[in-house]
Amino acid sequence: MKTRNVVGMDLGEMEAVAAALGEPRYRARQIYAGVYRHLRRSWDAFPDLPKALRARLGAEFSLAWLPVVETAVSRDGTRRSLFEVSPGAHVEAVFIPEEKRDTLCISTQVGCALGCLFCVTGRQPPGRNLAAGEIVAQALTLAADRGPASRRLNIVLMGMGEPLLNYDNVLRAFRLMTDPGGMAVSPRRITLSTAGVVPGIDRLAREPVRPNLAVSLNAATDEVRDRLMPINRTWNIAALLEACRRFPLAERRRITFEYVLVGGMNDSPDDARRLARLLSTLRHKVNLIPLNPDPSIGLEPPPPERVLGFQQALVDAGITASVRRARGEDIAAACGLLAGRARGEAGVTPGR
Ligand code: SAH
Ligand code: SF4
Repeated sequence: MKTRNVVGMDLGEMEAVAAALGEPRYRARQIYAGVYRHLRRSWDAFPDLPKALRARLGAEFSLAWLPVVETAVSRDGTRRSLFEVSPGAHVEAVFIPEEKRDTLCISTQVGCALGCLFCVTGRQPPGRNLAAGEIVAQALTLAADRGPASRRLNIVLMGMGEPLLNYDNVLRAFRLMTDPGGMAVSPRRITLSTAGVVPGIDRLAREPVRPNLAVSLNAATDEVRDRLMPINRTWNIAALLEACRRFPLAERRRITFEYVLVGGMNDSPDDARRLARLLSTLRHKVNLIPLNPDPSIGLEPPPPERVLGFQQALVDAGITASVRRARGEDIAAACGLLAGRARGEAGVTPGR
């Protein structure tokens, strides 16, 4: 018999489970806290539940994270995990330790249908949406791996896939990850990155609690953006920035605009000035990402001095712009390189 997985259930659903088993309601809260707060991975690990109940739960419900089929550790401490979400379908998530915080970068879809020119994920055949439980399971796995949680936890929905094309499951996962009775990650520490799905941004704007918004702009003219990101032919720069203008921001919050610098395509001083003009009326910051190259992409990052020149031109125009340091380059864990397939190169261990 196929058992239902409790990972991905919210408290209401767990209350229904408790009721179906003829158990009092508070049992649901115990199970919920065990799964999402204490990161328990089997029914045996619930000392607060009577043995007989654990046996009944075990017979009817699974408590299953996702199988990890490969882990790679970078010399900078970044860790990439490859999960099998269903037979033959894989996603990757990346653990990025920093000085004062740990960041978990997790995936929302198998592959991505948007096909951006510079992105390895976008070169994969489009797969499927991940269920909320599959999104949360990545976060649980990476959070458990980091050992004693001394540093603050940040979660970025910037792995494989376009989160706003899997809206309902992503928002459900967001609610599970932020619920104070469970993982209790502050909504301010979760960032959703979109390629610019305008209706999704508008929908997110109406949510009572929202993640931070990051927008992959990547070009300062429609001509260039059309080439880099086919989605621009549906929602162009003007439409996208209008949606950003409508997006409500809490005090001291800003929209992050990501800008992948591609050598000879979008990296000129003129592009920087155009970008500054486009963003001038928005509360924003710019995150410059020198392209992470991959043989399958055939594009190159600009030379370092050109990256710095671009940044300086933005700063001169009054824009806050940082250059994102590539993490986990040696294990293909950097932005845009997640392919969702086993690689088996040096430093990689199968499974865990
Ligand atoms: N689909 C969403 C989120 C996943 S992509 C989005 O596009 O925003 C996460 C980030 O990686 C995006 O900002 C994207 O522009 C960037 N990216 C993609 N390919 C890259 C590459 N080869 N080098 C550097 N950044 C890349
Ligand atoms: Fe998809 Fe984002 Fe990659 Fe574009 S950059 S193909 S939207 S994952």
